[in-house]
Amino acid sequence: MDILVVGAGLTGATLARALAEKGHEIRLIEQREHLAGNCFDYFNDNEIDVHMYGTHIFHTQSAEVWHFASRFAEWYPYQHEVRAFIDGKLVPVPFNINSIEALFPTSIADRLIYALLNEFGLGQKVPILELRKSQNKDLQFLANYVYEKVFLHYTEKQWGFTPEQLDQAVTGRVPVFVGKDNRYFQDKYQGIPIAGYTRMVERMLEHENISVDLNTKFSRDQLEEVDHCFYTGAIDEYFNYVLGELPYRSLKFNFLEFNRAHFQPYAVVNYPNNYDWTRIGEYKYFLDTKSDKTVVSYEYPEAFVRGQNERYYPIPNEANDKLYKRYLELAAKEAKLTFAGRLGDYRYYNMDQAMLRAIKLSESF
Ligand SMILES: Cc1cc2nc3c(=O)[nH]c(=O)nc-3n(C[C@H](O)[C@H](O)[C@H](O)COP(=O)(O)OP(=O)(O)OC[C@H]3O[C@@H](n4cnc5c(N)ncnc54)[C@H](O)[C@@H]3O)c2cc1C
Repeated sequence: MDILVVGAGLTGATLARALAEKGHEIRLIEQREHLAGNCFDYFNDNEIDVHMYGTHIFHTQSAEVWHFASRFAEWYPYQHEVRAFIDGKLVPVPFNINSIEALFPTSIADRLIYALLNEFGLGQKVPILELRKSQNKDLQFLANYVYEKVFLHYTEKQWGFTPEQLDQAVTGRVPVFVGKDNRYFQDKYQGIPIAGYTRMVERMLEHENISVDLNTKFSRDQLEEVDHCFYTGAIDEYFNYVLGELPYRSLKFNFLEFNRAHFQPYAVVNYPNNYDWTRIGEYKYFLDTKSDKTVVSYEYPEAFVRGQNERYYPIPNEANDKLYKRYLELAAKEAKLTFAGRLGDYRYYNMDQAMLRAIKLSESF
């Protein structure tokens, strides 16, 4: 079949490759001037791999996704750690036993750790809202501390809402980890593509059945020339916002270069309190680049405004979910169209989830 894929992010690129390998002819269009969607990166003059839309770390439990991606990338075995700036100290997040030991005097830390181990057991990830329900006085103290210092103001900054106004899918994600593993992800497969994400996507699209047009925005007349279309742009935009706009959270990135080897001791430092930015990413850590210069980005969350900034995070709450489902009803009437990806499905996907969704779609097509 002749297939149009709209959007050259990871969803569109995975779809294009998987469908091309099944013998279909693919035309992939992308409105931006570059491939890889929000995973776009480039190597600057000092060989530092800068992620233009914020720090991206590949991690998955899916052997299928890992093996697919590994056909197009060699991996630097990076294990991600994040620190949060709390009460003047940099402590591991997700909040864990090491964070407790860093923040409290030994006698209090011991009590809190004992209570955690006793109630939940070693190795458990306890969502903060669940910890708050504990009857144990020490754990209630800990829960309130973590809620206030790690979770509440960060969530308000990140989303522009109180936690109560958001789905538990978001709020429930923030765990306290009963253990000493400081890694942000415990997935079996983790890494950063040595040649960058953009090169990985380029290699995915190097196939005789795939043609790519950058700087090309979708228009409906393109549908007439093809048998099917996979659309990874925003579903509300496709329907010209007839039912209203699906809200997103956006980000402003302030990139700064410094004439020094390092700016901060970890790739990502979160600022849950006191500052306007939510986090600072320092890019040279991802591939352990040796240089006497460094690049960081400050992230400032803001509302998405059409024409002014980018859509980053769909905002999961009941009203938005309802609106999305009404768009899905319109989508069901479009015979040769399938929506996918974080904009098409109006859902936050990690890179591996976006790829898995694309692989499954191509298999069932
Ligand atoms: C700040 C931030 C940090 C992240 N960090 C991580 C991380 O550490 N690990 C992780 O696994 N995931 C991370 N993610 C998630 C990751 O970015 C997504 O999983 C991934 O980008 C999803 O790919 P996609 O193809 O669905 O969407 P996108 O990357 O957005 O691609 C969609 C593409 O479609 C194009 N397009 C849209 N409409 C049209 C149109 N009408 N015509 C033509 N082209 C169009 C867009 O320009 C875009 O290039 C992060 C996301 C953000 C926002």
